[in-house]
Amino acid sequence: MFELSKKLKKLPPYLFLEIDKAKRQARAEGRDVIDFGVGDPDQPTPIYIIEALHKASLDPVNHRYALDQGMPALRLAIANWYKRRFAVGLNPDEEILPLIGSKEGIAHLPLAFINKGDYSLVPDPCYPPYQGGTILAGGRPYLVPLLESNGFLPDFKKIPPSVRKKAKILYLNYPNNPTSATAEKTFYRKAVDFADKNKIIIVSDLAYSEICYDGYRPQSLLEVDGAREVAIEFHSLSKTYNMTGWRIGWACGNKDLIAGLAKVKSNIDSGIFSAIQIAGITALDSDDKYVQNMREFYQMRRDILVEGLDSLGWKVKKPKATFYIWTKIPGKIDSITFSRRLLEKADIIATPGVGFGGQGEGYIRFALTVNKERIKEAVQRLKKVWQLVL
Ligand SMILES: *Cc1c(COP(=O)(O)O)cnc(C)c1O
Repeated sequence: MFELSKKLKKLPPYLFLEIDKAKRQARAEGRDVIDFGVGDPDQPTPIYIIEALHKASLDPVNHRYALDQGMPALRLAIANWYKRRFAVGLNPDEEILPLIGSKEGIAHLPLAFINKGDYSLVPDPCYPPYQGGTILAGGRPYLVPLLESNGFLPDFKKIPPSVRKKAKILYLNYPNNPTSATAEKTFYRKAVDFADKNKIIIVSDLAYSEICYDGYRPQSLLEVDGAREVAIEFHSLSKTYNMTGWRIGWACGNKDLIAGLAKVKSNIDSGIFSAIQIAGITALDSDDKYVQNMREFYQMRRDILVEGLDSLGWKVKKPKATFYIWTKIPGKIDSITFSRRLLEKADIIATPGVGFGGQGEGYIRFALTVNKERIKEAVQRLKKVWQLVL
């Protein structure tokens, strides 16, 4: 009786549907599934953050509507964290906006700046809300391929002038989900010049800035001169502190972009639960020891999985950042067939690359959110059935 809006109908289909169904069925049959599918940390939130929430939640002051623009103390903690981590100074009153998770802000931003028919430049493959947010705002995603031959970085030269003219937003996400690629300052320099010349907003999604290995430390786009004129950067406590369910993140950067996003949000939500904001301050103010432990933890898993796959003759590169292993599928089968066979033959779930965009075809993504004994078990299972899955 009620027809979906044209915008909603334009959203790309959810490509993981088949995998989700197969996973549920396997579990219902009592099979022992090892799930490398979800990019959601398996470790608990650190206890000191939980204790901060508990204490704050007992204070009735925190039970009322929170401030839309976030607590001043949270914005200050974010500014201090940025200064420590990237040596970038931000004005907590104008250049920082707390969010109900960064996905929320990423999806709402186009509502502030996209008019019907405008393009946004969306990497392919990518995290789905870039495309979804654009379409829901009436814009058109223009897919920019991320090719392995170019380090999974977009090639701005290949974007036609007619598209540049109508483009409003460029999405960048390094360290990258799903490819685990990283970007250096020389690339960010080029991106800022491209955006400045063509009057395009850069959305830099830095959700994985703290998930990095072998001493490598990702940079912020805002470290580049002039970035503050064109860019908004999104951060999250989700991955850094194992807080995906809590819903807290932030946007920072150009003050007009922040103000636009804040105006959209003031019509939609009423801020983050204050006790969660206070717990967020505790997280951001804490020393790096906990985060460093987590890095070592993922790094160990990364090494076990990559070396295990290597022993099967599957050559896989060790990523410098993110908790994803993104790799070409050995053999000549498509990514959905390959992931279906992994599940059928070995009770292993990994995400087919095509689910992140057409350029992801031929690839598969393993999330390192599985403990090391289970990773070893997965490799043993693959050894037994290797010829059957290829
Ligand atoms: C996990 C993730 C986020 C973080 O989302 P939250 O809404 O803050 O939990 C943002 N971008 C990418 C690419 C991610 O993978």
